[in-house]
Amino acid sequence: MEKCLIFVDSEYAKNAIELLEVARQIFDLAPYETYALCIHDITESANGAFDHIIYVSDESVKCHDAKAIAIIMEELHVIHNFGAILIPATQIGRMLAPRLAIRLHVGLVADVTAIEHIDGALQMVRPAFSGKIMACISNLGKKPIMMSVRQNVFLYNEDLNKATSHETFYPKSDLTTNIKWIKTVEKPKSKDIRDSEVLVSGGGGVKKGFHRLTELAEALGGEVSASRHIVDSGIASRSIQVGQSGKTVSPKLYIALGIYGSLQHVEGLKNVKHIISVNINKDAPICSLSDIVVEGDAIEFIEKLVDKIKSEADESK
Ligand SMILES: Cc1cc2nc3c(=O)[nH]c(=O)nc-3n(C[C@H](O)[C@H](O)[C@H](O)COP(=O)(O)OP(=O)(O)OC[C@H]3O[C@@H](n4cnc5c(N)ncnc54)[C@H](O)[C@@H]3O)c2cc1C
Repeated sequence: MEKCLIFVDSEYAKNAIELLEVARQIFDLAPYETYALCIHDITESANGAFDHIIYVSDESVKCHDAKAIAIIMEELHVIHNFGAILIPATQIGRMLAPRLAIRLHVGLVADVTAIEHIDGALQMVRPAFSGKIMACISNLGKKPIMMSVRQNVFLYNEDLNKATSHETFYPKSDLTTNIKWIKTVEKPKSKDIRDSEVLVSGGGGVKKGFHRLTELAEALGGEVSASRHIVDSGIASRSIQVGQSGKTVSPKLYIALGIYGSLQHVEGLKNVKHIISVNINKDAPICSLSDIVVEGDAIEFIEKLVDKIKSEADESK
């Protein structure tokens, strides 16, 4: 039976569940068991999702201390001989994965966005050269297969009612660190576009009136996002760019205003439930992916929809 270790970044627990889908695709039909590594905090969603939870409560291990966590994962690998080790490509995950790969003397594929099996061989796919090509990488060396996985790309739809076993792990190594905890600063409320259920997204067609998107996003309780055209024009920050070289998003509703729908943009739309596009050209590629297409000027659309939402809200008072 193969074993797969998944690191749970407690700040982004949802991404650890996504990695279960990666494990499913790696092992395909072969039997395997999943192990979640939780530091200090047993994330609620891990219960029932994983076969085993390994919990480390040692106070000397800080949850952001990638060096100590890499040592713990190495110790676990010596015990379990994992076939695969999966780490979400969060900030901590990006620090942790290369440290662990060096300790285990294995290759690491970073920021994986797809898994393929070609002629019986597993290939990990990731954007390379700033997203200009998708690189397919095989592991020809020894196990474990190690990768960090881009957030929000995979969707796990399987059983979340497993009888999860729990084990507290006591690392043997000296985990004394030079890192000093100075103070905890509360993170400002996240407005990460990856967390929003509604995205009002603008492209080249709304370049002049991009600021108007905020009115519609506020009326719908969503966030504003953008295509690279808008970001490269200096109108919006890269943190709200959707696409291959931006973020992968999965809202319930994506309103694409004046967006053409290039391959690189659409690459960032994974598991989006509904797309409404507004475009003066109904043959733009984004329209063929949309549930509703409005042919016309996007700013006019915003004005009319915001007015309608406001007047309906007034009537219901
Ligand atoms: C390596 C690489 C990585 C890339 N990564 C990304 C990425 O992560 N994200 C990304 O978005 N792009 C990315 N791109 C760029 C991508 O190829 C496109 O150039 C870009 O997505 C185009 O943005 P757009 O659709 O907003 O603009 P345009 O291509 O300019 O399209 C504008 C659209 O608006 C419509 N329009 C015009 N006026 C109006 C109006 N008044 N009302 C309504 N519609 C109107 C037009 O018909 C057109 O469909 C990448 C490119 C490369 C080479």
